Amino acid sequence: MQETLSCLIQLQKVDSAIFELVKVRDQYPARVKQIQAKVEEHSAVLESLSSKLGVLREERQTKEQHLKSEEEKLRKWEKRLMESKKHHEASTLAREIDAQKRLNQEVQEEALRLLEQEEVLNKKVDEISAELDGFRKEYDKEKAISDAKIAEFASQIQVLEADRGQFTKHLKPNLLRKYEGIRDRRNGLAVVPVQDGCCKGCSMSLPPQLYNIVLQANTMETCPSCKRILYWEEGLEHVIS
Ligand SMILES: [Zn+2]
Repeated sequence: MQETLSCLIQLQKVDSAIFELVKVRDQYPARVKQIQAKVEEHSAVLESLSSKLGVLREERQTKEQHLKSEEEKLRKWEKRLMESKKHHEASTLAREIDAQKRLNQEVQEEALRLLEQEEVLNKKVDEISAELDGFRKEYDKEKAISDAKIAEFASQIQVLEADRGQFTKHLKPNLLRKYEGIRDRRNGLAVVPVQDGCCKGCSMSLPPQLYNIVLQANTMETCPSCKRILYWEEGLEHVIS
């Protein structure tokens, strides 16, 4: 039993090393994902601004076109006024010209307001474009770093995976399955020492009778609370290299 426990402890050491490497490795794609989200977010904002800008531009151009034809009309009326000889017709025409001039003035002001809004939006588009450009460059850089790191970790993990073999070959398949099941459910830690009557995996106090059984190291015992496999470090010192 002591040899089996020792084997499990060594296997746990290798698995803990793999677990830590995987944890560090996974931070790289997570960072890339964060930047990618910023790229997508900025692209969406830019798209929405561009479409708003398009609507404003079209509205302004329509107004400008309308204004042009109204001014044309005004010029014809003014010409008619110059040529008019009848007093009544001339005063009616003059009133209409005044009214039309006021209308044209309003349309011109509206077109100007739209142009101002376009300028504000254009400035915003430039700002967001510059930010997006920065995030895209950052994304390329972080992606390259992430890919290189993942490859580096893969080779380190491969070496450790190969190391596991020298311990797993001494364990019965059902025990190995049990160990791996606990490890996967318990944050990578399946085999833990006991100390001062407690399980060092979950810090819970063990029943005194169970604690004594663990100290004898003749059977395989698990923590009633976290279900991890327990061992007494000092008692196994002679078998743990
Ligand atoms: Zn425990």
